[in-house]
Amino acid sequence: MSTSEVILEEQGLRDGLQTLPMVIPTEKKLEWIARLVDAGVRRIQVASFVHPRLVPQMADAEAIFQQLDRRNGVVYSALVLNQKGVERAIAVGVQHLAISVSASDTHSQKNTRMTLEEAKADFRHNVRLARAHGISVRAGIQCAFGCRYEGRIPAQRVFDLIKHHLDAGADEIALADSTGMAHPVQVRELVAEALILCGATPLALHLHNTENKGLANLFAAYEVGVRQFDTAFGGLGGCPFIPGATGNIATEDTIHFFRQMGVETGIDLEKVAAISREVESMTNAHLSGALYKLPALLSAS
Ligand code: ZN
Repeated sequence: MSTSEVILEEQGLRDGLQTLPMVIPTEKKLEWIARLVDAGVRRIQVASFVHPRLVPQMADAEAIFQQLDRRNGVVYSALVLNQKGVERAIAVGVQHLAISVSASDTHSQKNTRMTLEEAKADFRHNVRLARAHGISVRAGIQCAFGCRYEGRIPAQRVFDLIKHHLDAGADEIALADSTGMAHPVQVRELVAEALILCGATPLALHLHNTENKGLANLFAAYEVGVRQFDTAFGGLGGCPFIPGATGNIATEDTIHFFRQMGVETGIDLEKVAAISREVESMTNAHLSGALYKLPALLSAS
């Protein structure tokens, strides 16, 4: 296994694909998962156990986990939103789950029909259920840096949620800039405090590039000590047919960005880029990443 100084968790299969209007066949997803692992990816979110009518792209979550060729040393995770999702994940032997609440009351109510307080109680219940079945839990905080409805989220609310998640038994904490509204100074200040609160519990950042500040925010977080980031191949995500909407920061761009600074991710840029190019030609989606479009020689330098 390659050693890496930063860990990138690949989100393209879930956060990315779920935004596509066409459903990708299970066999194709399994092929991409295998190729990403071959490229050196060691953490990968492969599905979400959500209602198949709401997210048809994720209707094959069970099939993915049943047919997955699980490799040692690779974390295959799934996202769940409720108890039903946890139960489905338990049934197919998922070992790592992402469970989150939104720091924005308005977003929480629109997304889950629960107030923040209700969502916190539900979260604790789901974390307990998952951990009772030997599943490790990444406890997420969505909209940690800003909300389109509420604007800037008070930092204290995020800190309170981190403490809440740690008390609930989280194995790691993830702060999500779901809206891409974060800026580097805010990231630096919030994350520095969050790292202190987390102590020995790993802290990951889930950054969206909606306002084109993804890598700047990543760098701010890296400088204060974060070593785990979510990325998506090609920057896939956001609705590809809505101008300006973008997904997570692109995996290839992040590999390249770190490599130029002498920080190793352990992931082969060109192997990931080949998948992004395939997704682009299969779907006619315009991906927001930069590096997958460049010839291999340029990205290697
Ligand atoms: Zn996301």
